[in-house]
Amino acid sequence: MTKGGFFVIDLHTHTTRCGHAEGKLEQYILAAIDCNLKEYGISDHFPMDYLGFREEDMSSMYFNELSQYIKEVENLKEKSRDKIFIKLGLEIDYVQGLEIKTSELIKEKDLDYVIGSIHFLFGKDVSHPKNKDYFKTRPLIDIYHDYFKKVENMVNSDNFDIIGHIDVIKKHGHVPSESLQEFYIELSKLLSRKNQVVEINTGGLRAPVEEMYPSFNFLQELVSHNVPLTLGSDAHKPSEVAYGFPKVYSILKQLGVSKLVTFNQRVPYEIFF
Ligand SMILES: [Zn+2]
Ligand SMILES: [Zn+2]
Repeated sequence: MTKGGFFVIDLHTHTTRCGHAEGKLEQYILAAIDCNLKEYGISDHFPMDYLGFREEDMSSMYFNELSQYIKEVENLKEKSRDKIFIKLGLEIDYVQGLEIKTSELIKEKDLDYVIGSIHFLFGKDVSHPKNKDYFKTRPLIDIYHDYFKKVENMVNSDNFDIIGHIDVIKKHGHVPSESLQEFYIELSKLLSRKNQVVEINTGGLRAPVEEMYPSFNFLQELVSHNVPLTLGSDAHKPSEVAYGFPKVYSILKQLGVSKLVTFNQRVPYEIFF
């Protein structure tokens, strides 16, 4: 990663606590400093056992590790203060029916922000390669319809500061031949009305689909509806910190966007680049 003066934030990153990441947290922070990031947000997966997921579907820390995670990030926040601003976040699976339970727990914690994500559709982790066959069971457009309906419900829950990898359903390259523009427009209208922050997530560039979340067409729609944006790499190793950011910044410039949103104790503020 070359140094660049224009990298501002990376708010979607993980730690080894999730069970599928590598490298010490200090190495991630060094990478962030090396990329000239102003802010580095750690948003590990919220304990899925607390949300009723089965043991074999867990891709997060356990509930009894949560306070240790928070303590570790807060210590690093203090230690790195003169080099980079560390933010304490969580990425939480949106589970229909558990909106109140989720919101109550989030309120208790001293978090800077919460990312809401969907990985599961009808009990299947559609972001995991082991479930690729699911996409053969029904027309893709129907799966996308159900997925985006769930995104809509997640936005309407008002639980989350950031909507994570908004079109992650395409991750393994299962993209319907039909136009998705209608979904993009309807969701953009809702997000705009709610002033809901959406992340640009470069994890998709490393997935089989080789495309950021959201897709360029979707992003264009979000921008034209004035939906506030933030940025994250979904790093699961130190070398993935700020992954693909030069490409994102040039796309944003092309679309006339010059600011991103970040958070302090769940209060949003803008940062210009
Ligand atoms: Zn992960
Ligand atoms: Zn995720």
